[in-house]
Amino acid sequence: MKNRSDVNWDVHGLCIGVPKRADYGAFKQLISDVLPYYGCNTLVLLIRYRYAFQRHPEVTDPGALTPRQAAEIAELCRANDIRLIPKMNLLGHQSGTDRGSELGLLRAYPEFDETPDLETVRYCRSLCPSHPAVTDVVFDLMDEILMAFDADALHVGLDEVFEIGHCPRCKDTPNAVLFADWVRALHRHLAVDRNAEMWMWGDRLLDAETMGYGEWESSANHTWERIDEIPRDIVMCDWHYEEGETFPSVPYFAEQGFPVVACPWRYVAHTQQFLDDAASYAAGKDSASNKVLGVLQTSWCDAGALARYLLGDDSIEGVARLVGESFRVAMEYGR
Ligand SMILES: [Zn+2]
Repeated sequence: MKNRSDVNWDVHGLCIGVPKRADYGAFKQLISDVLPYYGCNTLVLLIRYRYAFQRHPEVTDPGALTPRQAAEIAELCRANDIRLIPKMNLLGHQSGTDRGSELGLLRAYPEFDETPDLETVRYCRSLCPSHPAVTDVVFDLMDEILMAFDADALHVGLDEVFEIGHCPRCKDTPNAVLFADWVRALHRHLAVDRNAEMWMWGDRLLDAETMGYGEWESSANHTWERIDEIPRDIVMCDWHYEEGETFPSVPYFAEQGFPVVACPWRYVAHTQQFLDDAASYAAGKDSASNKVLGVLQTSWCDAGALARYLLGDDSIEGVARLVGESFRVAMEYGR
């Protein structure tokens, strides 16, 4: 088996959320001190609706970054040769399970809810991709985020979509068509009209049955079936957090023609299994293996705690500590 030193990856990234106000200083120090030290050159910043949108202030959630902070983060990343890719969730992940937990967009525009008739949903609410006005607002938000962070790419989320094909507008259309049409609509706006790169999570384009992953890391609700219609310049963020020996989705996406980034999470042992396998494929002779761009460490924990742990605060426990340990290991791959 090839090892991690046999490939040279372009992308060494960290995906992290917006910090609480009190942690903003630590967050800036993470960018200026920690990321360059570990050779981390890509920061995917999960905004959701935590930005003080000017054109649509009604969707802004509490704890939002101001335009001035966005510009400051962008400048700090630029000064440290870090590519800043803001991230939104532009299909699923619009709420918790219960009514009243809606995030900014559905709180302000309940008519965009795919499941307005359901009091509780299995995991989280989705946008209705067929609502005639949804893109009017979504495209405005995308434009404003790109501009605020002076970004040349946007991560649009699209993971773990379970609520799809439910509303009267959508229910007679196959999920695969709904999903592919929505991806193409976002791509047209972002890549074609704005010349920005589109990144997304890959799980809805993986067939759970043939991939052998569960219904979270891959799709058991048919969303993958029109993968042929998905533009091949979208960067697929292929996330896997469980243990495993082989991760067939990395070669699958590469051979399908997508640039692909391997995205581990919290357990170092799982991160190593995943990245060993991805690096082994990337170092091989397969003609598509150069489609593997690198690694994006995910965090899914408090951004301030992770920043403080990586800045040397050894009292930090829990997921932030685990993610910090995984990050150090992940950044060693592909060099
Ligand atoms: Zn719908």
